[in-house]
Amino acid sequence: MAIDLNKTDVVIVGLGAVGGVGALPLARAGLDVIGLEAGSWLTPRDFAPDELRNNFRGWPQAAQKANTEIPTHRPNASAPYSPRFPIHPMMNGVGGTSLHYWAQSWRLNPWDFRVVSETTRRYGAARIPKGSTVEDWPFGLEELESYYDKVEHEVGVSGQAGNIGGTVDPRGNVFEGPRRRGYPMPPLRGTEFTDRMATAARKLGWQPFPGPAAVNSQTYDDRPACQYHGYCNRGGCHVSAKNSTAVSTIPKAMETKRLQVVTQAIATSVAVDERSGRVTGVNYVKGGVEYFQPADVVLLASYTYENVRLLLLSKSRAFPNGLANNAGQVGRHYMTHHTGNPVTALFPFELNNWYGLPAQGAAVDNWADDNFDHSGLDFIGGGNLWVYSDRRPIGAASMSTYGKAPTWGAGWKSFIKQNADRFNVAYLQKTTLPYEDNYLDLDPVAKDPMGFPVIRITADHKDNEKRLGAFIQDKMAQWFMEAGAIAVEKGPTGTMGPSTHAYGGTRMGDNRATNVVDQWGFAHEVPNLGILGASVMGTSGAHNPTLTAQALAWRTAEHLTGNWKAIAGG
Ligand SMILES: Cc1cc2nc3c(=O)[nH]c(=O)nc-3n(C[C@H](O)[C@H](O)[C@H](O)COP(=O)(O)OP(=O)(O)OC[C@H]3O[C@@H](n4cnc5c(N)ncnc54)[C@H](O)[C@@H]3O)c2cc1C
Ligand code: SF4
Repeated sequence: MAIDLNKTDVVIVGLGAVGGVGALPLARAGLDVIGLEAGSWLTPRDFAPDELRNNFRGWPQAAQKANTEIPTHRPNASAPYSPRFPIHPMMNGVGGTSLHYWAQSWRLNPWDFRVVSETTRRYGAARIPKGSTVEDWPFGLEELESYYDKVEHEVGVSGQAGNIGGTVDPRGNVFEGPRRRGYPMPPLRGTEFTDRMATAARKLGWQPFPGPAAVNSQTYDDRPACQYHGYCNRGGCHVSAKNSTAVSTIPKAMETKRLQVVTQAIATSVAVDERSGRVTGVNYVKGGVEYFQPADVVLLASYTYENVRLLLLSKSRAFPNGLANNAGQVGRHYMTHHTGNPVTALFPFELNNWYGLPAQGAAVDNWADDNFDHSGLDFIGGGNLWVYSDRRPIGAASMSTYGKAPTWGAGWKSFIKQNADRFNVAYLQKTTLPYEDNYLDLDPVAKDPMGFPVIRITADHKDNEKRLGAFIQDKMAQWFMEAGAIAVEKGPTGTMGPSTHAYGGTRMGDNRATNVVDQWGFAHEVPNLGILGASVMGTSGAHNPTLTAQALAWRTAEHLTGNWKAIAGG
């Protein structure tokens, strides 16, 4: 029998990148908020710049809940399962995966909000790939702009604006939509290598720029600037220069005395009043004891897989197929960012990349989204080309020999010794669309230690993504060669297994027959249930998701505070 706790105004499940932002406007508005967080507080002492620990032993992730519920994957409903990942890179802790993410903090491009209407307008409706369930977002970039701005300033993002109020600045991203003001901090500095790449891009007639990062380029909110020593691409920052929500928005929310953080609290289901169909609170387990936390409003912010899982596990007479799932949309319109089709390059000189962090780089958006003419092409969408500084010894030793040396023995060792600092791996994020047969559901066999089914992913890249991947690879290879590379290698598309950029499953849209949440992030079928995270996003864009998911979370929270009685009052 669960222990009944005192009722609160709002309970948020998960205090990660997104829940940690959503809590702030709620707490500032004077609502009492309880954040149920499966992990615990980590401190700068927990974040060692240690490649073995962070990148290979998966600490701190290795000891986490996420690893006990790694989704299973099959490319399609009749394909065999893919081998299951040994470690899931997502994090359980106050701050969630923002503790150890790369911190690239991108806004989406205006096109990403209007893929259907803009594609139809420019190329005709037949160019929407067959089987895709893509819809326009219920609003455009202009609606989200003020929320992007708030998050950039509350979390702390460094970068170079490319378009302030319609005035384009070639030092920044000339393709970005208009913003009201610049970033709160200048961009992270370049390196010898990223400067070389930027020069090569300009020679090609492209417009390179430094990417935005939730990392301090100077002292911000009393936290120091980045030291650029690196080893944090899977680790937290021991000087708190990386702006996780654990050092930015969560402490600010706690200062109001309205946010109570309950750590090591694992939510297991959301409770429903059978007569009204409204949610009444959250069941959770802490230290082996079951609790029920009643609340007027429940916000799920436990990352895409767990958001969907909690809904599907929360069955009742009112929602026999899972909470908010009477229209059968929970788990649908799922996609992971297309980061396959990699390109690596070998240079005939040292790149001096043994320092720096992956958010410190040079970007090219000339081939992203719809920034180029697709008339003669056989795909829609595009990719962000990103090169960065960040090299570690064990990772470097796994470099390709580009057919120039054996892959073992003395010849291999000698090649690695000479070339370990002479290769580079680009990070290529490309548009992924949702498709009818890419979805999430509960695995019929695999269970977590509490006996609950884990998420099963049924998904694969389709022709549009494969063609786009090959196109972007060619562009990246061209860029590397222009910068002096002597060899490039292109990798395969890969499949759509568990991802750190997982979208959809609780998509946002006005049509309740095809979307789980409305344009404010509240469930069509359950008015006092909100969902935060990239699970509400209907398109991926060509840039990392977190800033967009955080801006959406702020918007949902602000909508709640402005419409408290209507949403919470019943
Ligand atoms: C190595 C790495 C690098 C990345 N780099 C970037 C980048 O540069 N830029 C970018 O935009 N994105 C990046 N990402 C992705 C980014 O981390 C995610 O988009 C973001 O963290 C998602 O936010 P979230 O709040 O939905 O999930 P999380 O930040 O993972 O937070 C979810 C929280 O919910 C908690 N939780 C889960 N289940 C439960 C439960 N049942 N009960 C209670 N609490 C629960 C978790 O413990 C966690 O704290 C990266 C990810 C990784 C792993
Ligand atoms: S490189 Fe910067 S962000 Fe990374 S751990 Fe060092 S100071 Fe922190």
